[in-house]
Amino acid sequence: MSNNAVVVCTWGEERGGLPGGAEEVLTLANQLSQRLGADLNWLTLGTSASGIAETAAAFGVASVQQIEDAKLEGVPADATVEALAQYCAATSPRVILFSQDAATRTIAPRLAGRIGSAVVMNAIEVATEGSSLEVTAAAYGGDTRSLYVLAGEGTQVIAVTANSITAAQPAAGSTPSTESISVDLSSVQERIRVVEAAKSEGPRLEDAEIIVSGGRGLGSVENYKLIRELAEAMGGMPGASRPLVDEGWVDSSHQVGLTGKITKPTLYVAIGISGASQHMAGCGAANAIAAINKDSEAAIFQHARFGVVGDALELLPELIRAAKA
Ligand SMILES: Cc1cc2nc3c(=O)[nH]c(=O)nc-3n(C[C@H](O)[C@H](O)[C@H](O)COP(=O)(O)OP(=O)(O)OC[C@H]3O[C@@H](n4cnc5c(N)ncnc54)[C@H](O)[C@@H]3O)c2cc1C
Repeated sequence: MSNNAVVVCTWGEERGGLPGGAEEVLTLANQLSQRLGADLNWLTLGTSASGIAETAAAFGVASVQQIEDAKLEGVPADATVEALAQYCAATSPRVILFSQDAATRTIAPRLAGRIGSAVVMNAIEVATEGSSLEVTAAAYGGDTRSLYVLAGEGTQVIAVTANSITAAQPAAGSTPSTESISVDLSSVQERIRVVEAAKSEGPRLEDAEIIVSGGRGLGSVENYKLIRELAEAMGGMPGASRPLVDEGWVDSSHQVGLTGKITKPTLYVAIGISGASQHMAGCGAANAIAAINKDSEAAIFQHARFGVVGDALELLPELIRAAKA
């Protein structure tokens, strides 16, 4: 086990046999480890995802480390924080990087609190200045960038915003070593019990190339059917702004934004959406945004490459006809 390593910590398995966001965070961590002259290690918690060995070699990982313990299944916060605190005590990493998902929002700050380190959430870039880390992070719902300088010794904790980094093309590399790390979780009592978890099946909004999203401007749940129809006709997926989820028109797997899904489609179509910063945090990375809004002053037009000022309910049937044709 190497001290002072740059460590990427992941769990679960999503796309292509890999944990969510793994390639993006490995891309950033690989650059950082080279600048710091440190080893890059990949720590996986729970059952190992199938694609890890091949990807680790392609991203310059020196060692794939695994903590396997039944108490870590489902990434429960107390056991995960305890496992990571023990790991940090045993290996003294320079920095530990996560892809930011719902679980990370709880785990990263608590880990930092336990080990007495700094934590930066919503990170989008990590540079070095001497021995300090300079972390750029999104703030105020993605409207603003904050620069944090993490000086001093010890482990730093960084959570990287999903879809904020373009993953490097995997390159041929040498096979990393593998290590199984033991931790003692026997005394951990989970204080948060998951009563019911939202089930998401099928394709994920985060991976969609085309997203057609509806907002409060649609006026009623019946009109959201037009969003689904247009999305399907365009070969995309339907999304929504938060008020539609709050109103129960759609489930939370559709919500785009700061407290929803962070997406990066080729085309994002925003219909009846004002363009609040918290919404843009989830779609601002799209290659192109097209907007329909009846208010020419709506903030969404500051972000849109294509814009139509008009009534969504008049335009949607025409668009669906055109897309189907
Ligand atoms: C901590 C926090 C987190 C948040 N997280 C999120 C998040 O993750 N995602 C999110 O979306 N929001 C989030 N919000 C809420 C956010 O601030 C906005 O309130 C929300 O995005 C507004 O949704 P909207 O654009 O659909 O509705 P509105 O702001 O009400 O806008 C509706 C728009 O529709 C237009 N319109 C009305 N009628 C028509 C018509 N017939 N045709 C065309 N256009 C029409 C109006 O001109 C208006 O621009 C968050 C807020 C907070 C405080």
